[in-house]
Amino acid sequence: MEINFSGRTALVTGAGKGIGRETVKALQSGGAQVIAVSRTRADLDSLALECPGIKTICVDLASWDETEEALKDIGAVDLLVNNAAVAVLQPFLEVTQDAWDRSLDVNVKAVAHVSQIVAREMIKRGSHGSIVNISSQASMCALQNHTVYCATKGALDMLTKVMALELGPKKIRVNAVNPTVVMTDMGRLGWSDPQKAAPMKSRIPLGRFAGVGLSLVHLSFEINL
Ligand code: NDP
Repeated sequence: MEINFSGRTALVTGAGKGIGRETVKALQSGGAQVIAVSRTRADLDSLALECPGIKTICVDLASWDETEEALKDIGAVDLLVNNAAVAVLQPFLEVTQDAWDRSLDVNVKAVAHVSQIVAREMIKRGSHGSIVNISSQASMCALQNHTVYCATKGALDMLTKVMALELGPKKIRVNAVNPTVVMTDMGRLGWSDPQKAAPMKSRIPLGRFAGVGLSLVHLSFEINL
């Protein structure tokens, strides 16, 4: 499917690795001017070599104040992909306060905060736009050792609905994409063990997990402005 983003500016969070990194490449090849936001400078530097012309912003989205400062001059953005997230896997009885704090900060609060920054600017310009939140099947399906991750993705789905409700009348579309397992670093962390993976794969009609390219096909349906 060919999508044309010429003349559009897209901001992708968690752009250093995995799905976010491939999303940057896909958006740029579709003609978008891309702002890539991530935590590790080396990832952004190598991405900028692969995708000359992109703008990179290095920030830990877990920090509200640092995010505010880092994004204060981003200017007009037409498309926001809230992709950054962390997965801290712990059995329910061993879940730590730190796992809750970091996961809620990145997976939920940062999505709302980055969206506020981008949406306020869209509204100020009177332009329409699109926000895509990368959620997960984990928002709807209980997964072993995924207490915090599942809870944050459930919260993200509801955040997405409220954002869609409030921003829709202001010409900003908000959607969530809920992929199944994608074999990125995060995917490998949770699903490399063949014994654990087998029951999950058996419920997927194709009998295999997604690669980043496959998930981008789904994402591209949502982000087309
Ligand atoms: P990866 O762990 O491979 O990549 C995540 C990216 O987000 C990294 O570049 C990471 O940077 C960045 N990031 C994480 N925390 C922060 C932070 N605090 N500030 C800035 N950047 C940050 O994840 P995936 O590509 O697999 O996942 C992308 C999205 O897709 C996530 O929302 C995830 O929940 C969702 N998803 C993934 C699935 C999977 O199986 N892989 C399945 C369903 C949904 P750094 O490494 O430097 O921290």
